[in-house]
Amino acid sequence: MSDLQRVAAWADALIAQHLDPAWTFGFDNAKRRAGQCDYRRTRISVSRYLAARHDDESNHQTLLHEVAHALAGPAAAHGPAWKRIARELGYVGGTTHDGETAIELAPWIGTCPAGHVVYRHRRPSRPSSCVRCARTFDRRFLLAWVRREITAADRRAAATPR
Ligand SMILES: [Zn+2]
Ligand SMILES: [Zn+2]
Repeated sequence: MSDLQRVAAWADALIAQHLDPAWTFGFDNAKRRAGQCDYRRTRISVSRYLAARHDDESNHQTLLHEVAHALAGPAAAHGPAWKRIARELGYVGGTTHDGETAIELAPWIGTCPAGHVVYRHRRPSRPSSCVRCARTFDRRFLLAWVRREITAADRRAAATPR
């Protein structure tokens, strides 16, 4: 369960860090898709219903997915340019707008001193700090990484609709 105010604060921080100031954030009333990038209105939105049900890391992933769309532009769709940007931002999911299953399949788990958890498919090559504790790199909030085993059973479980 996520506090919506917190989700909005991360969204504002991501927009300030990566996007043109014309971009704004808001919640929408979608029931099925977690997030949306509206290029015409330069607006990123997240479903208030799903955000309230998802945990913090899922919501953060949804935001990264949409910020990557905003950076890559509409023509990129979910192609290689979008994917590269999304990975750089720390998005571990696929091309769907539901970040939940992706987390189950990312072997690298990073934990900050405050206990926030992030997921990656690869071990980060540089030290990175927790984006929830500090907007920019800060040694006080370094992430400590551990690798876990992802089994075939995990992959099947993640692929099974819930
Ligand atoms: Zn997308
Ligand atoms: Zn943290």
